[in-house]
Amino acid sequence: MREVRRTLAFMLRTAWREKPALFGSYLLLFVGDTVATMKSVLIPKLLLDELLLVTEGAPLSEHLRLIVLYAALTVAIDVLVRATNGVADRTKGEIAQWFQEYCDMMIGEHAMKMDYEHTEDPDALDQLNKAREGMSWYSGGVVGILDCVYRIALNVTVLCGVTTLIFTRCPLLLPIQLIALLMISWLTARINGIDTRNFVRLSRLNRIFSYVLFQLASFQYGKDIRLYDSSRMMGDKAKEKSDEMADIWREQALEQMRYSWGIDIVNVLRDGISYFYIGMLAVRRVISVGDFTMCMLSAAQLYNSLQNIIISVMDIKKRCSYAYQFILFLDYPAAMQTGERSLVDTGGKGHVITFCDVSFRYPRSDKYVLRHLNLTIRQGEHLSIVGLNGAGKTTFIKLLCRLYEVTEGEICIDGVNIMEYAEEEYRKLFAVVFQDFRLFAFSLRENVAPGLEAVDEERIEQVLTQTGLYEDAQKLSDGLDTMIYKSFDEKGVELSGGQQQKTAISRALYRDAPIVILDEPTAALDPVAEYEIYRQFHALVGGKTAIYISHRLSSCRFCDHIAVFADETVKEYGTHDELVARADGIYAEMFRAQAQYYVDSNGA
Ligand code: ADP
Repeated sequence: MREVRRTLAFMLRTAWREKPALFGSYLLLFVGDTVATMKSVLIPKLLLDELLLVTEGAPLSEHLRLIVLYAALTVAIDVLVRATNGVADRTKGEIAQWFQEYCDMMIGEHAMKMDYEHTEDPDALDQLNKAREGMSWYSGGVVGILDCVYRIALNVTVLCGVTTLIFTRCPLLLPIQLIALLMISWLTARINGIDTRNFVRLSRLNRIFSYVLFQLASFQYGKDIRLYDSSRMMGDKAKEKSDEMADIWREQALEQMRYSWGIDIVNVLRDGISYFYIGMLAVRRVISVGDFTMCMLSAAQLYNSLQNIIISVMDIKKRCSYAYQFILFLDYPAAMQTGERSLVDTGGKGHVITFCDVSFRYPRSDKYVLRHLNLTIRQGEHLSIVGLNGAGKTTFIKLLCRLYEVTEGEICIDGVNIMEYAEEEYRKLFAVVFQDFRLFAFSLRENVAPGLEAVDEERIEQVLTQTGLYEDAQKLSDGLDTMIYKSFDEKGVELSGGQQQKTAISRALYRDAPIVILDEPTAALDPVAEYEIYRQFHALVGGKTAIYISHRLSSCRFCDHIAVFADETVKEYGTHDELVARADGIYAEMFRAQAQYYVDSNGA
């Protein structure tokens, strides 16, 4: 019940805030539908009684005026209601479409705001999928749910009208309709219960099925799928899930069929008994022929209205339980705390970063990736982090960027725990290029300057030149407007690995943030190109704080300090010369191992 109340309140509030015109449409529909329904019950009785009087010998001239009036009224009401309903339905349809996009946007925006750790949490991913599906055709979204509310209001009004009519002419019809309805409602509730039960099962299967289909159709994965010949494996997986879904649908249809037959039987019995009862009243002349018609029409209407109310109540419950998944997603726990504090303006001198006794393990994992790590990065310092794969370098960056919360210890910027800073302001501190950065299927320009601010063409040109991508960009068919990937434009290009990395680095440079981080985004570049980029970067970053992660130690030489990560902590720390001088040091050994590849035939 709570989920229905919450969902309804949410939908009503959202509709009132965003599109109050929707309520105008419902009001117009309400007036039109009520008048049209009552007309269809009352006017046939009035017409029939007048016609019967004429056939029984009453003078036509006395009754003709009324007969014409009733006929004209029928036509006039029909035309008017059709016109107003047309307008109202059109407006409602447009608003429904608008809300569909609005809710999709809300899901997207919330997914971006959610704590990063949830992006790897299967429960959160499932919830996102349920929110998306629950808010689409399963519930019909905002308008789908408000339609149910509208149907209840309309049918309650019509019900009051026809009950009064029946009560005055053929009162026994009321219990007959009511009993039939209770039986049918029970049967319908069973059918809906089966639907809801299967929704959860189907949603999970659908997520896996959609994922496989997406991979198969995705341009970016095309190479891997072809080269590893994994399309058959993918196809088998998709088929397996599709078969499982088909089994569920089949099982559901069979289970529901029994209840559908029950509904048909109750309907037949109800109509037979009703006709018999009213027919007897008419034969015994307790009611007129017009009343007979009115009673039958009212009974049908009463039944329809009652059924509509019950179906709408159940429907609203069902739709709300689907749409509630959307609300649950929106208030998905933001486990990470965030503060209000602003960063101190250091006048462009950068910030001091301190890791104090930091230990960390990933959510849902017992293994510590970092333990008792202490490190200070001074204002404007250029730090290089090296270490073997899995040493925790990227994790260190993720913690600094507040994508995860430390398990123990604290990270401070300018002496204040980073959790105390306001989130948006904090994020602006960083320009990061991760190893697994992603480019968008938009133009090259939009990839370099993806923010909301007006694009600074000169700066784009400058950063592309600095990363060595400008010349390549000039050769593209539409220059900077060339689309990356072919998802939206067949003339789109797939950049080489190195070009993609240069694009990502250009994006970081363009952002102009006080702390710049390169987490080994240069692996696809040859050593000389990487050396060039790091050298350039070092000059470009200038007085800003910079953190570089690279496997190639030649790139570390420019840095003020080098931190060597091993055994879940900072094992060695110092300048390049200091670390190389430690004969048994990890860094020295790594350096010696790599140096042999770069020594030319003269030993230089
Ligand atoms: P590096 O950047 O030094 O190669 P990472 O920081 O990426 O190392 O990874 C450190 C360790 O943390 C590895 O053992 C890795 O498997 C683990 N790890 C990384 N990401 C996750 C995650 N999301 N969940 C659980 N473990 C993770």
